[in-house]
Amino acid sequence: MGSRVASSGLLAGLDPEQRAAASAPRGPVCVLAGAGTGKTRTITHRIAYLVQSGQVAPGQVLAVTFTARAAGEMRSRLRALGVEGAQARTFHAAALRQLHYFWPRVVGGRPWQLMDRTLRMVGRAANRVGVDTEVETLRDLATEIEWAKASLIGADDYPAAAARLHRDTSEPPERVAEVYRTYEKLKSDDQALDFGDLLLQTTAALEEHSAVGEEFRDRYRCFVVDEYQDVTPAQQRLLDAWVGERDDLTVVGDVNQTIYSFGGASPRPMLDFTRRFPEATVVRLERDYRSTPQVVSLANKVIAAARSRPAGSRLRLIGQRADGPEPRFAEFDDEHQEAAAVARRIRELLDAGVEASEIAVLFRVNAQSEAYEQALSEVKVPYLVRGGERFFSRKEIREAMVVLRTAAADPPDGELPTVVRALLAKVGLTDQPPAGGAAKERWDALLSLVELAEEFAADASDPSLPRYVGELEQRASAQHPPTVQGVTLASLHSAKGLEWDAVFLVGLAEGTLPIQHADGDDEAIEEERRLFYVGVTRAREHLWLSWALARKPGGRRGRRRSRFLYGLLPENHPASRVARSAQNKPRGAQPKCRVCGGRLNESMEIKLGRCAKCPSHVDEALLGRLKEWRVQRSRELNVPAFVIFTDATLIAIAEQRPADDRALVSISGIGATKLERFGSDVLALVHETAGQE
Ligand code: ATP
Ligand code: MG
Repeated sequence: MGSRVASSGLLAGLDPEQRAAASAPRGPVCVLAGAGTGKTRTITHRIAYLVQSGQVAPGQVLAVTFTARAAGEMRSRLRALGVEGAQARTFHAAALRQLHYFWPRVVGGRPWQLMDRTLRMVGRAANRVGVDTEVETLRDLATEIEWAKASLIGADDYPAAAARLHRDTSEPPERVAEVYRTYEKLKSDDQALDFGDLLLQTTAALEEHSAVGEEFRDRYRCFVVDEYQDVTPAQQRLLDAWVGERDDLTVVGDVNQTIYSFGGASPRPMLDFTRRFPEATVVRLERDYRSTPQVVSLANKVIAAARSRPAGSRLRLIGQRADGPEPRFAEFDDEHQEAAAVARRIRELLDAGVEASEIAVLFRVNAQSEAYEQALSEVKVPYLVRGGERFFSRKEIREAMVVLRTAAADPPDGELPTVVRALLAKVGLTDQPPAGGAAKERWDALLSLVELAEEFAADASDPSLPRYVGELEQRASAQHPPTVQGVTLASLHSAKGLEWDAVFLVGLAEGTLPIQHADGDDEAIEEERRLFYVGVTRAREHLWLSWALARKPGGRRGRRRSRFLYGLLPENHPASRVARSAQNKPRGAQPKCRVCGGRLNESMEIKLGRCAKCPSHVDEALLGRLKEWRVQRSRELNVPAFVIFTDATLIAIAEQRPADDRALVSISGIGATKLERFGSDVLALVHETAGQE
């Protein structure tokens, strides 16, 4: 009775569709839904519901997801719902644990080592085979080996598979296969396993040793997979080994967030779920609880522009939150200015009361991080890089763990947070924070352990020191740091499943997003577009999108903003003007009418360069040709016509008949980017229609 009341209370926090999925009887469940619609919330509630209603014991639940941080997030949410003891891990972390447990029985002898320096082993193999050992080549080879293993493709089958799937490799496929084969041999001689092996070996143990399989299936009975759209064949095979002939499997995902196909992942198993389990409960969610309607509308546009999509994945998110600020777009001369402007805007948000831990700067490649680390340091904003995976390797945290672990053997009396604070005083946690720099960073790190103790004391049913230390150990093994009061700097890939109040998507230039090597490959471009969609949908409220035309100050401004931005910027958005005002440069004189000399205020008038009432002397022939040209370009680029030039800009061109680049950029609405893309076309048209007035 008590549990039934508790479980219905639990479900009160869900909408009807979410509730249907969460409270479905044990058995196959599939939730297909867009970002921010509550998929993760639904599955954590489902686990809590099954546990509270006595249908499954927490220890029998195994939940897996994509990143360590997302797994940590899932554990925190479960704990907040009163579930203790359910496993929530990444596929790799779950396999690692199982393999440790089963290894003595299935292999025995000397224990294996998990290799943490794959590249070195690839280097040894390449050397032996006589392939170039430049770091770039080795990275390429390592990527191929990783992909092949995730795709369950052995060295012998690699060349055929690589050809069929158009893998772009720096070495001929036969040579890659040779390196792959040698790498496997060297590794097994060393009794070492790589990350891919964790999945393969665990699967083999379960499939080939019936006693192991039985023991496992007896122990785990309820399986949940988050981010199922990005499952690799190796992970799916492991999942199949876990589930066996049973069907107690809940999967949730969003096809539009598939961002790992080039690592071997595929949304196919998710889309085929109901074919495999025809009796499955299937739920689709559309309400977006995470983001403001402004962010949601942008996300819908991004994903509507996708060129290819699997059947059943068309989705339109409906924003549930109150209105928020419009997303901001900004163009900069170089990356330095871009990072400085982002740092200044972050300062403003902090001053306006947004928490640092509720702000993230997301980029395509980790090399972009440095500029932001520097810019944030300059304005004295604390940050943590890539979610702070290295948190538990910090010296002060390792020392703190020793002190806490020792104390847990004979816990002192008192409230958990007070006890933790007193213990951490021994390793340097003072009452008042030090002024700044490295000392302040250490202090912040230690304080985050106290804050975690406060959170833990509020949520956990038994907030004792030993249990708290247990939680820390778990987090350390899963690389899930506590939320440090700092701005997150992370790659788009690692941001999946997470959310922040304010998100800065930076470096949105061609060559970075989409990344250079995706160019010319439609599928790769679509994956980059989905990555962009993942980025946009991380924001609850404030969304900033920016790019820079040059890399270094004073460099050639030869970059173009990302193609994914076409059609997103508000019409007539003066991208370059936003950038200039962000840099606090004077905006130039008030525009005047070129016919009567009066002041111009309306944006349409500014664009035309004259008052709406003043006489127009438009070159009709030129205007006609410009319009034809625009239709043709918009078809080629697959963007709406106004994205190329608005009507007002075309009229202004047809009136002013610019003769050169300078005259062309003086027309409002034509900046460096448009000049580069369309300048020569337009000037040619002006030239060709000369004298036809
Ligand atoms: P993603 O695809 O990005 O992983 P998701 O579908 O897993 O997103 P969640 O993270 O579960 O979405 O939910 C997004 C946000 O909306 C969370 O803050 C969650 O708590 C909130 N939320 C979800 N459903 C509801 C609801 N029914 N009522 C209130 N808030 C909700
Ligand atoms: Mg999620």
